[in-house]
Amino acid sequence: MSALDSAATAGFAKRFAGEPDGLWSAPGRVNLIGEHTDYNDGFVLPFAIDRRTVIALGARTDRLVRVASSFSDEIVEISLDELTPDILSGWSAYPLGVAWALGEFGAPLATEPGFDVYIVSDVPIGAGLSSSAAIESAVAVALNDVWALGFDRRTLARVGQLAENRAVGAPTGIMDQSASLLGEKDAAVFLDCRSLESEVIPLGFDAAGLELLIIDTKVSHAHSTGGYASRRASCELGARLLGVDSLRDLGVVDLARAAELLDDETFRRVRHVITENQRVLDTVRTLRESGPAAIGALLDASHTSMRDDFEISVPELDLAVVAARGAGALGARMTGGGFGGAAIALTPHELIPTVTAAVRSAFADAGFAAPDTFVVRAANGAGREG
Ligand code: ADP
Ligand code: MG
Repeated sequence: MSALDSAATAGFAKRFAGEPDGLWSAPGRVNLIGEHTDYNDGFVLPFAIDRRTVIALGARTDRLVRVASSFSDEIVEISLDELTPDILSGWSAYPLGVAWALGEFGAPLATEPGFDVYIVSDVPIGAGLSSSAAIESAVAVALNDVWALGFDRRTLARVGQLAENRAVGAPTGIMDQSASLLGEKDAAVFLDCRSLESEVIPLGFDAAGLELLIIDTKVSHAHSTGGYASRRASCELGARLLGVDSLRDLGVVDLARAAELLDDETFRRVRHVITENQRVLDTVRTLRESGPAAIGALLDASHTSMRDDFEISVPELDLAVVAARGAGALGARMTGGGFGGAAIALTPHELIPTVTAAVRSAFADAGFAAPDTFVVRAANGAGREG
């Protein structure tokens, strides 16, 4: 039993005075490449990481649901008869929202028994590694088992997304839940955000002696929400002016026409999305044909595009990328929505200490707060632990 598993069982016993029926877990995720492409119906290539949320769940004989977490002292209680997304708030909206969302997908909530859930996790919260999808996916697979619903993993991903959109109120896409549910060891999940078709793509990092180093700058900019909304608006404007439903319908051959029709700023926003979609496709092809050591230049190009064309980087992220590359990383880029958060650096195993030290000393020299640095490995998706 892992330390998290033991903590989940012990925490359940302490908060609820009993034994759970079982343990289920789901991982966080990192996006290898494909940024701001999801809401443009494009491509993303995330993978599930070896940081997980574990839940201990026990079915009840009445209709009560109780949720508790190592993250909080409170126990939140609600009857299944009262469960609507509008009355949910705070951290418990994630697990309770999933129970509600399963009902929207056809689970017979009016007759299911209630349950107790205790949550533990080593997915860092708010670092862009999707602790939110980890909770949602763990609860979704657990209730799918306990209530014998028989939903497939793609449906469970849509359940998690619905919970996040309606119960939490965050207008997120389906990437995070897809990675958390469909991930496999040493492999990424290639997701088409239009068709929702997905394919598991072997990464081969282990055989090539490569690691993915996360550099969490811990910077969070107040304008990130406004910046995100304005980028989305630019993408919608670009698509409308170019006469397509979404930027997904354009390719690099359309860039010359886009340059003529669009103002400079909209053009650069559009160019990021079009070239980023192409980079995801190129990364998948390169992994298959040449192996993971060959994708470094695509990661670098993705960062340059986000820095110069989409303008969502910050000095800390740019420095993390430059310092990691200078110390021997094969490629590096900011990951996530931008305006702060984390960078990733594809790094040979033996150079991890060198790259980490170089990034830390560059941050100190620049007067930036020390970043958090750690390695993540591509891991299995959500499932039953015990
Ligand atoms: P991210 O998904 O990038 O980590 P989000 O803001 O989407 O950040 O989700 C973080 C939120 O998810 C937290 O503020 C909290 O409400 C909830 N959450 C994450 N992990 C836990 C946990 N272990 N227990 C309870 N709530 C959690
Ligand atoms: Mg999240």
